[in-house]
Amino acid sequence: MTPSPPIAAVLGYPVTHSRSPRLHGHWLERHKIAGHYVPLQVAPEDLEAALALLPRLGFRGANVTLPHKEAALALAAEATPTARRIGAANTLFFSDAGIRADNTDAYGFTRNILDHRPDWRPRVAAVIGAGGAARAIIVALLDQGAHEIRLTNRTPDRAAHLAQEFGAAIRVHPWQARSDMLSGCDTLVNAAALGMTGKPPLELSLDALPQDAIVNDLVYAPLETALLAAARARGNPAVDGLGMLLHQAVPGFEGWFGLRPAVDAALRDAVLAP
Ligand code: NAP
Repeated sequence: MTPSPPIAAVLGYPVTHSRSPRLHGHWLERHKIAGHYVPLQVAPEDLEAALALLPRLGFRGANVTLPHKEAALALAAEATPTARRIGAANTLFFSDAGIRADNTDAYGFTRNILDHRPDWRPRVAAVIGAGGAARAIIVALLDQGAHEIRLTNRTPDRAAHLAQEFGAAIRVHPWQARSDMLSGCDTLVNAAALGMTGKPPLELSLDALPQDAIVNDLVYAPLETALLAAARARGNPAVDGLGMLLHQAVPGFEGWFGLRPAVDAALRDAVLAP
């Protein structure tokens, strides 16, 4: 039998909103790789069976998105230290040895900021939100040398839980005092689902934030959030969230299709096209 073309998938529930098929599709086309990347809507109760079957159908791996990120890590035979620290997987590689789980969100976040500020060295950072994305951001900030991460979340218990898990560098601040915690920070990240199209705005005053602090919003719909606009208006360097999405996809594509693709303006345009 002739070998089948390489194929990978994104598993989510729902999965229709995922930009990953367009992203990987752009790279496959650009590099003239006769491969496929397909969205698969998989209900939580079917995840285990799906992950058992896909390798047998010739899939080389998959991305997993909400709500499968924690469950996929638990089902993997092997996991990278980063995926374990984040406590969730977003990229899976299939082999005869079973599933290897990785999480490339911390890598994507860091590369996105370094693209804009190659000299970025976080020391004191502020993070809004304590969900799955915030975990990846905390891991990335610690790995980049941050010694203090000021964390705030609407539900304080979730932030306290992260502080317990990640140690003394994490300082939890009350949600009501989130604007005050920005004083002396060199990096501000919005990792809460606020400011997205259809969600409530992020209410935050930047008055206390040093003017040279980098402001990054993980929200990328809209691309220019109110937070980024406010940051730019007062002179802060501002980095949108799309670059993180693009960069996090690189290790998966390389592992499945055998070529390390570039993150560039053509990819951004392809992913943003209506
Ligand atoms: P998640 O695990 O569901 O966490 C959601 C976070 O948003 C929690 O901290 C939650 O606070 C907070 N939140 C939601 N509604 C809120 C409200 N009305 N008021 C105050 N806080 C609210 O989601 P996630 O996976 O961490 O994603 C968070 C955001 O990051 C989303 O916008 C997502 O699109 C974005 N994201 C972007 C990338 C990228 O590549 N750019 C990657 C991952 C995620 P509570 O704990 O109080 O509910």
